[in-house]
Amino acid sequence: MYDVIIIGSGPAGLTAAIYATRANLKTLVVAGANWGGQLMLTTLVENYPGFPEGIQGPDLMLNFRKQAEHFKADIIDVPFENGDFTRSPFTITAGGKEYQGKTVILASGADTMWLGLPNEQRLIGHGISSCAPCDAFFFKNKKVVVVGGGDSAMEEALVLTKFASAITVVHRRDAFRASKIMADRVLAHPKISVIWNSEVVDILGENNVTGVKLRSPGKNDIREIPTDGIFVAIGHIPNSKAFPGIDVDEKGYIKKYTKPGPGIWKYKMATNIDGVFVAGDVYDHQYKQAVTAAAYGCMAALEVERWLEEKD
Ligand code: NAP
Repeated sequence: MYDVIIIGSGPAGLTAAIYATRANLKTLVVAGANWGGQLMLTTLVENYPGFPEGIQGPDLMLNFRKQAEHFKADIIDVPFENGDFTRSPFTITAGGKEYQGKTVILASGADTMWLGLPNEQRLIGHGISSCAPCDAFFFKNKKVVVVGGGDSAMEEALVLTKFASAITVVHRRDAFRASKIMADRVLAHPKISVIWNSEVVDILGENNVTGVKLRSPGKNDIREIPTDGIFVAIGHIPNSKAFPGIDVDEKGYIKKYTKPGPGIWKYKMATNIDGVFVAGDVYDHQYKQAVTAAAYGCMAALEVERWLEEKD
């Protein structure tokens, strides 16, 4: 019987594990088949506090993991399969085995929505990114393309103006989905131009991105434009589908309850099910930073500790 089972092994899950184990809670982390979350796909991380020279994303996650293991968290590198969240202790199945926990922290993260083009995965970290606050610095005085028309794309483009020499937003329609204020800022910025009614059909470059091929939807008017980088900002998919009975919002992000109503509202980071907590990007659609995910993991673990003290 575990005091807490943490599902997910990104900054939220592993920070929760560090706090839980240091509070002497018997802790299981279901890390997934590919542990470490989105930072495993990045290169240099320069905005995680404590690393003045920056640190490679996978190295940062290895440090998180070693720290959780140092305090004796059990970490299993198998995928979460299903969970019975109807009553505590909760039973979850992972890697074909059943585990029981008095509490659960859902920290399964969100995946970047990628374009799904053949050269895309190969060039991630070599000119393709999905996080301007993380990677814009590497595009100092370079030309970049931002793909998307929502608030994320606007934000990426605006962050990039501080570094890149020219930013081209490529959007598949003739109007942005983004809020007016963000769209107006983008349209008024002298460094940003927009290519409307165009979709990216291929990404060019052997070792680094050198250009993109565009096409108007439904037409065959393929054009090439040179670029040093591509920021894909077409949305995220929260990994919340596998959790039966857990309330999510219309976009699939897990809801937390902080007001009187369903669930255990007196605990922060609580879901609609008593004893099940949430942390990181599967809940947070706003900030999506490693440091905020870690902070949510810390909060969830402290709330679990309080819950166990009061209820167990
Ligand atoms: P979003 O609002 O869903 O917008 C996604 C954009 O990507 C849309 O313009 C969509 O085009 C485009 N798109 C989707 N799939 C595509 C594909 N396969 N190829 C090309 N383009 C594609 O997602 P988001 O921008 O990540 O925002 C998510 C939520 O977070 C929103 O509620 C947003 O307001 C919020 N957010 C807020 C802020 C802020 O306030 N500072 C910042 C970021 C995000 P269509 O328009 O044609 O569908």
